Amino acid sequence: MQHLVDTNDFSNAQITQLLQDAKSFKAHRPPQLLHDKLLITLFFEASTRTRSSFEVAAKRLGASVVHLDPSRSSAKKGESLEDTFANLCAMEPDGIIVRHSHNDTPKILANMQSTPVINAGAGNYAHPTQALLDLFTMVEHFGGNVEGKTIAIVGDIVSSRVASSGIRLFRRMGMNILLVAPEQFMPDSTLKQYKNLEDVMDKVDVIMSLRAQLERHEKELFEDYDDYASQYCISKKRMGDRKILLLHPGPVMRNIDISDEMLEDPRCQVLTQVKNGVFMRMAILKLLLLDS
Ligand code: ASP
Repeated sequence: MQHLVDTNDFSNAQITQLLQDAKSFKAHRPPQLLHDKLLITLFFEASTRTRSSFEVAAKRLGASVVHLDPSRSSAKKGESLEDTFANLCAMEPDGIIVRHSHNDTPKILANMQSTPVINAGAGNYAHPTQALLDLFTMVEHFGGNVEGKTIAIVGDIVSSRVASSGIRLFRRMGMNILLVAPEQFMPDSTLKQYKNLEDVMDKVDVIMSLRAQLERHEKELFEDYDDYASQYCISKKRMGDRKILLLHPGPVMRNIDISDEMLEDPRCQVLTQVKNGVFMRMAILKLLLLDS
């Protein structure tokens, strides 16, 4: 039984396969490969893109999807996460897609070996399907290879599971990674760190902007965001005429992470990421439910 807790669960050959499948699903709508499969989503944290993207991906491949809303489930009556999960597994789904605020939850549930577990975001530790869809978007943009390309990850890196999974995967794919953040958003890392965005603008092929995750910080970080935005918001003025690919996992805080004007610029591929997310998640579901 194969799970997806983080991208290191996949071999290089599997990642190549995922990129190929995502590309071919994007080019031609595939047959209902998963018509006899049933997935359950179990999201203990809010989600717009990831949950709907998984549902669209599953349905495009013919699978059925059942959602359990933990805020209305027996979790509210004190049932443990493991018991909730075991009860769902007793209904014999073909996989459970889980999002949780604790870093270890997907691993703990995967270790129960009852059904394939797909991590849809865990704490600040991992968001593997986002990293894979970001890789797909970059591979597509650069015409097949990201090796040797430089990406700057900008913003609240310490809180970001998108950054954690991305850093592990992009390094493995041979990318150079620069971290750009104020001190309170910078993780412990051996990667090159910068406080000033201006210092990296001429070094990068890609910028990944991240949201300030206020829900994961215990204390108030800034009096207001004008000061932060004046230093880290990706604006047209900052980008100049450089050919940099601009990514963001969403939700974008307009004029704090990325300016309104820059969101309209063709270099900003935020909606391409969302579109590609469906194709990459289709490829992931095929790999986990059919090929493994
Ligand atoms: N949507 C992403 C996540 O779930 C990023 C974010 O929330 O800022 O991690």
